[in-house]
Amino acid sequence: MTTRIRLCHLYPDQLNIYADRGNIAVLRRRAERRGYELEWIGIGVGEALAPDCDLIYLGGGQDREQALIAPDLARRSDEISSALEDGAALLAVCGGYQLLGRGYRDRSGVEMPGAGVLPLETVAGDRRMIGDVSIDCELDPGEMLTVVGFENHGGRTLLDPGAIPLGRVVHGFGNNGESGFEGCRLGKAIGTYLHGPLLPRNPWLADWLLGQALARQLGEPPELEALDDELEYEAHAVALRRARVRGGKFR
Ligand code: GLN
Repeated sequence: MTTRIRLCHLYPDQLNIYADRGNIAVLRRRAERRGYELEWIGIGVGEALAPDCDLIYLGGGQDREQALIAPDLARRSDEISSALEDGAALLAVCGGYQLLGRGYRDRSGVEMPGAGVLPLETVAGDRRMIGDVSIDCELDPGEMLTVVGFENHGGRTLLDPGAIPLGRVVHGFGNNGESGFEGCRLGKAIGTYLHGPLLPRNPWLADWLLGQALARQLGEPPELEALDDELEYEAHAVALRRARVRGGKFR
C-alpha cells in the first residue's frame, strides 16, 4: 500500500504571499517521485487540524492578513503542540513563523497573539529588511548545508535564551539583523523568514521535511532515492550569488 503523507496547510486563503504554494508543489512532486502520495488539506479559520497529520504548513502574509487569522491561530496552541508530539513535522514561513511564537506587535502597535508553539516573539521595526539571504544550517548533526532564500519583513524576531535557530546568517538579515540567527528549530518544526519560495531552491530541505513527515508513520525517516536536481542546484547557485553580491537592504 502506498504511504500517504497528510499535509495540513493552515490558512491557505490568507497566508499565501510570495508564491509560498510553490513549497507545497515541491513537496508533492518530490514525494510522488519516490512513490509516496501527498494529501493536501486546507484548514481555514475555525476548522480543526485533520487527524493523523504528518506535516503542518503555514505560509507568509502581511500584517493585515496576519491580523485576520491570529486569534484563531492563538487558540491552536494545544492542537499544534499535540500534532508535533505525535510526530508531525512543520514548516512555517515569515508571517506564519512570527505567529507561531508568543505574538507579533505590528508597526501601528497592534498586538497580535501567537500560538506560543515556538520560543520567540516579534516586534515590527521602522524599516523593512529586504533581500537575498544565505544561512549555514545543520539539520542533521555534522551535516552543514547552505540554505538560500529571499526575505522581506519589518518584524524583528527574538529567540528566547536557549532556543535553537534554523541557521546562522551568512548574507542578509535573518531574524532581526543583529543576532546573526535565522529562523527557529524545535525538533521537527522549522520556522523561517526565507521564501521566494524556499523549497524549490533548497531541495535537501524539502527532502528533510518529507523524511521527518514520513517518520511519523514509518518510525524513522526513510532513505529517499536521489533525484536529478540540476535545475534546483542552478537556482540555488543563482540565489547564493545574489545574496553574496547584493545582500539585504533596509527599506
Ligand atoms: N508582516 C510581517 C512583517 O513584515 C510578515 C511579512 C511577511 O510574511 N512577509 O514582518
